[in-house]
Amino acid sequence: VSDRPSEFALIARLFAPLAVDPAALGLTDDVCLLKHQAGCDLLVTTDMLTEGVHFLAGDPPNLIAGKALRVNLSDLAAKGAKPVGYLLAIAVPRSREYAWLECFARGLSDDQERFGVSLLGGDTTATEGPLTLSVTALGHVPAGTMIRRSGARPGDGVYVSGTIGDAGAGLAVLQSRLGEALRGVATAALDVSDGLLADLGHIADVSKVRITVQADSIPRSDVLRRLWPDQDGIVRAATAGDDYEIAFTAASEGAAIEAGRKAGIAVTRIGWVGAGLGAVLVDSAGQEIPVKQPGFVHF
Ligand code: ADP
Ligand code: MG
Repeated sequence: VSDRPSEFALIARLFAPLAVDPAALGLTDDVCLLKHQAGCDLLVTTDMLTEGVHFLAGDPPNLIAGKALRVNLSDLAAKGAKPVGYLLAIAVPRSREYAWLECFARGLSDDQERFGVSLLGGDTTATEGPLTLSVTALGHVPAGTMIRRSGARPGDGVYVSGTIGDAGAGLAVLQSRLGEALRGVATAALDVSDGLLADLGHIADVSKVRITVQADSIPRSDVLRRLWPDQDGIVRAATAGDDYEIAFTAASEGAAIEAGRKAGIAVTRIGWVGAGLGAVLVDSAGQEIPVKQPGFVHF
């Protein structure tokens, strides 16, 4: 049996100190209470992480916490939103020690400070199964300015922040607040979670356009270039996922690059939007590179 305090002591000791926003009511009520902000739209997103799928049982708990938060914050960033706060639902294996949870809460605390968000509420249960957690994040945009996936138009350029293929968990893009700088610039955007090519395919689907990506223009880290130097390596990077960079389309190349410069993050043009359907990768001769699996799918 573990050395864990009761559910309520656990919430009071570990989670209440993270509920810094008055809207969280110190985690002493059934709900959190967010005042409606005039002139703003409220954006809400959930991402779930399961042990054995998104992280391994032995991974450092503070890093798991950071990932749980960041995968959600990158969804908000991709929509041009400023993050407000988050809710956390967690099912903890009965055998998990208290020290694990302490370290997990420390990871949340570090990222809360980094990204200016507060815990607002959640739920805590015990489980016989693997550790599972779900974060629901809330963000604001000025009314009507959310960047959709559906706005890409033929003639737009295709861009991506940072580098692709290193499973970076988007730290730089979140700290730079690139997403907010893309409001009014990006015609469509999303965060790269399944794989660059698969995710651009999502934009192509809902925008009803064809996206062509120039393989050798995909920005990759020096480490990755050395690890996977050939074209096969580019395909792997473009389909690996877990990047949490922002991929977007924009009508003005100048405005796209300037948004990156203002936010202090690299933005690279990697392709173009045309008429048709789907997202494809081409080599420098313009030949389509066959891709078996454009990204990760759970089932
Ligand atoms: P309920 O019985 O309605 O599920 P709980 O006793 O589970 O309420 O929760 C009490 C308070 O603690 C609520 O404000 C809830 O949002 C908060 N809470 C519970 N678990 C968590 C958690 N993992 N993270 C943040 N807040 C939590
Ligand atoms: Mg509960």
